[in-house]
Amino acid sequence: MPYKLILNDLLKVTAKYLSKDDQELIKDAYFFADNAHKGEKRGTGEEYINHPLHAAYLLAVNNFDAQTIAASLLHDVAENHPDKIKELKKQFGEEIFEIIDGVTKLGKIKIKKSWFFPLNFLQGRRQKQLGYERHIESLRKMLLAMTKDLRVIMIKFADRIHNMQTLKGVRPEKRERIARETLEIYAPLAYRLGMGKVKGELEDLAFPYAYPKEYQRVKKLVGHKYEEKEEYLKKVIRVLDEKISKAGIKADIHGRRKHLYSLYKKLKKHDNDISKIYDLVAVRIIVNNLEDCYKVLGIIHQTWRPLIGRIKDYIAVPKPNGYQSLHTTVFAIDGEIIEIQVRTKQMHDMAENGIAAHWHYKDIRQKPTNMTKIARDQLVWLRELEKWQQNIKDSKEFSQVLKLDFFKDRIFVFTPQGDVHDLPLGATPVDFAYAIHSDVGNTCIGAKLNGKMIRLDQPLKNGDIVDILTKKESQPKRDWLKFVKTSRARSRIKSYLVKK
Ligand code: MN
Repeated sequence: MPYKLILNDLLKVTAKYLSKDDQELIKDAYFFADNAHKGEKRGTGEEYINHPLHAAYLLAVNNFDAQTIAASLLHDVAENHPDKIKELKKQFGEEIFEIIDGVTKLGKIKIKKSWFFPLNFLQGRRQKQLGYERHIESLRKMLLAMTKDLRVIMIKFADRIHNMQTLKGVRPEKRERIARETLEIYAPLAYRLGMGKVKGELEDLAFPYAYPKEYQRVKKLVGHKYEEKEEYLKKVIRVLDEKISKAGIKADIHGRRKHLYSLYKKLKKHDNDISKIYDLVAVRIIVNNLEDCYKVLGIIHQTWRPLIGRIKDYIAVPKPNGYQSLHTTVFAIDGEIIEIQVRTKQMHDMAENGIAAHWHYKDIRQKPTNMTKIARDQLVWLRELEKWQQNIKDSKEFSQVLKLDFFKDRIFVFTPQGDVHDLPLGATPVDFAYAIHSDVGNTCIGAKLNGKMIRLDQPLKNGDIVDILTKKESQPKRDWLKFVKTSRARSRIKSYLVKK
């Protein structure tokens, strides 16, 4: 991708699959955004519009629909220029506005400052470690819970990728937090949605910023190994190519390098002994159909002896996120150990693009908001999402396929500092105050929503930012019991009143 894009670069890509009307919509969105961001600069010093344009380009390359592209061009307008919201809504309509609004809301999901600590801080502190993991997990869930339309998450990924590519322009203190969020929230989410390419890209962009020392160490450890291995790979590929075409099978054979961050994670499990990592580089064989996958596996095993226990049939038994492939590790030329992966084109596309790959299916492209048509059992990764949300109490049956409103009876409310609390529908500022801390609940005297005072019994909405006002000598009121929704608030109020 060129470093500095212009509108025409984007239009050239969209022209290949969108109508003239769609192209017009994209142009309009571009000019609206360009105008709104006029004079605004990115941390890197470049014009602000360069950022949404890059995000839009990434989505266009993946053939996303015109609404998604338009919304991605406009994604920072509402956040940076609230005075333009009305005009934006009027010109682009409810659907695009909803997507932009969703992106803005997701932007508020951040790792709590208090969780930032020197890296070795967690070691030997099991309780802390668990607390941190819970926090991260709840952020991931929240991200999904707040997303009614998956296109919001797709824009968020594109936004993140460009933000990571330009992270140098951000203050050093902020870099680590952003990189850590990328590794712990966005990359795992991409993985669960089956988007291997996005996951790998996000991780490799974030790794050097999140864990600079480890990054340097892994890089040094790898040294020239990739280059050396790739020379060797070429020989292996030549042998395979000959045998497979002799059998009359069409195949695309190439090498792949392990992403540095996933190598780092694997090294941790193997005492940092790089000689134990057999898939530093691997051979990937892509064939036309399922039968050929098994035929090719047979050819491989006739040529080289496989390692016991390392033949994996992820076609018959896919990974939880839907990943399908045959993996085998063999003693190849000169007895060197190498991993080989075999899959069909469609499996490959799914492994790389996951949910985004479904966008290519015709019926979705025509009606991107109505993806419920896709048979549920086709989308293996959805089952993983389902498992993910089973832990949440009160969650209703997983009902609609891509309308991710399975947390619809929960709301997420933010403190002005960006801390977030997960509450039942109908929860009030008093519930929120007790969710923060029982002392905050006990001494609560009022609440502000978007800077305006609200009643303590007013039900809160998803994404609200609420500031709880307290007064030291104040006490809980018996009246509160009439409207609080959480058992936590109820029991704290009761116990306070009893003690009195
Ligand atoms: Mn952005």
